[in-house]
Amino acid sequence: MKDTRQNSTRRQPAHSSARTTANSTRRPSSQAAGSDFAGRPTRPVVQAAIHSSVAAAMTELLRDALDLIYPAGLKCICCGAIIDTTRTYSLCNQCMAKVNWITAGARTCDRCGKLLSKNDPADTCFSCRENPHVFHRALACAQYGALERDIIFSMKYRGHTEIGDILGEVMWDRLQSLDDTERQEIFQGGIDVIAPVPLSRQRLLARGFNQSYLMAAGLARRMEAPCDQNLLRRIRNTSAMKSLTPAERRQNIRGAFEVTRDVTGQHVLVVDDIYTTGSTADEIAAALIAAGAARVIFFTFAAGADVVKS
Ligand SMILES: [Zn+2]
Ligand SMILES: [Zn+2]
Repeated sequence: MKDTRQNSTRRQPAHSSARTTANSTRRPSSQAAGSDFAGRPTRPVVQAAIHSSVAAAMTELLRDALDLIYPAGLKCICCGAIIDTTRTYSLCNQCMAKVNWITAGARTCDRCGKLLSKNDPADTCFSCRENPHVFHRALACAQYGALERDIIFSMKYRGHTEIGDILGEVMWDRLQSLDDTERQEIFQGGIDVIAPVPLSRQRLLARGFNQSYLMAAGLARRMEAPCDQNLLRRIRNTSAMKSLTPAERRQNIRGAFEVTRDVTGQHVLVVDDIYTTGSTADEIAAALIAAGAARVIFFTFAAGADVVKS
């Protein structure tokens, strides 16, 4: 029996939020959202050094200077423009308009949630037709592009950890945009636990925080659902995926995760910043299903465009 319950906050969720089961390990929502990481990251010392041009270095210096002058929330999380505190998602009007939001009613892949090409009459994207997935469904809020990259970059590498909670709100709003049919297709009754994609211990120590946990905690607090940052563990470090082919990504990520407890019959919502080929989602889904999970949904802020071969 999959119980659902209504969120008690003023903003109603688009889908039935947390499902509670006899064997769920529900945590208080305050713990899900309130815990924080020791040692917030320091700004990269030689950020400017990665840019080859003097102009780029000057831009970085200016942004760093603005970081010192204006507290978080008064600058656009994407371009750094000064904004007032009423702006949705702390985005300036221009960036808000330029983000490639995946809105209600958009044609998206039935499996991975990517936007479908206008010319593609199929219900699933090219990538999903080529590579059957292990996870049940994926869902994203925006198509990955320059602005989405800047937002994620600011969160991960410029130490703007407040963006994690803002993206949690973006994801919450995306859930609310789903109609009843989509909600049922994706969640099939609800979820038991939200789990962030973990970093390796080495990378967590270097960065000081896990951006996926910040997002998951922000989402969980709004959903009043339990967030378990220890459900998944990355048991080995992996190479950066950026330049790898889909086959190389699958090989790179194989065996990288373990599930730390039994999740028999549970619906698990896994949170990450970006979905690209689905190799990470599949690897985690395989581990969760082996640990008994009944349903694995992968939820990200951004998803790459479908790759269409000519
Ligand atoms: Zn902006
Ligand atoms: Zn797809």
